[in-house]
Amino acid sequence: MLENVKVVDLTIPLGTDIIMWPGAPSPEMETLVTVSHDGYFARRVSFFEHTGTHFDAPCHFIEGTATTDTISVDSLVRPAVVIDISSAIGNDPDAVLTLEQVEDFERTHGEIPFNAAILLRTGWEDFNTDSLKYCGPDGDLHFPGFGVDAARFLVEERHAAGLGIDTLGIDPGNRPDFPVHSQISHPKGLWHLENLQNLKLLPPLGAWIIVGVLPLVGGSGSPARVIALLP
Ligand SMILES: [Zn+2]
Repeated sequence: MLENVKVVDLTIPLGTDIIMWPGAPSPEMETLVTVSHDGYFARRVSFFEHTGTHFDAPCHFIEGTATTDTISVDSLVRPAVVIDISSAIGNDPDAVLTLEQVEDFERTHGEIPFNAAILLRTGWEDFNTDSLKYCGPDGDLHFPGFGVDAARFLVEERHAAGLGIDTLGIDPGNRPDFPVHSQISHPKGLWHLENLQNLKLLPPLGAWIIVGVLPLVGGSGSPARVIALLP
């Protein structure tokens, strides 16, 4: 059944040197047992819930809403809509997805289906090993994100299941008030995926994604293995 399906990994490998949101702790990995000494190998790993390619649960910003373990699994296996603004924005770190760009996308590809995962490709994944370019200068975040009008349209008019992006966050770096997180997506129960990669390998429509979020009890988010299936 899956023989004609191509599988693409949208996940950045998670090591201790992964780029973090400034101020957030890096993951720690400690070898506890080794094959040569103990007969088997295992480590203890600790990480901030929002590390690497990761999932934001609605409770990340809205108290009392879904957590990583209570989010509906149906919402984690969704058709992917990939909006690519990488060439339109060039290297502008303050660019956002505009409503006009979403309307252009629909003129070209047809109306965005309800209940899809909307993935925004900005091209920033090319910088995901270069902290200065990926985050912006120290203490002064600059990276692209979803504009408020576009996000509101995708959430309210297209009933998106979730929003994903190849930058540190859904909101652009220069919006420390996080308008999409706090006012638009999480209040409506949507999840986010941040720090995705390989979005250039996906078609605008036709792929599905599987969001492998850890069911951490009460979690605000978790690193996630995000896999795309292409027909
Ligand atoms: Zn997050």
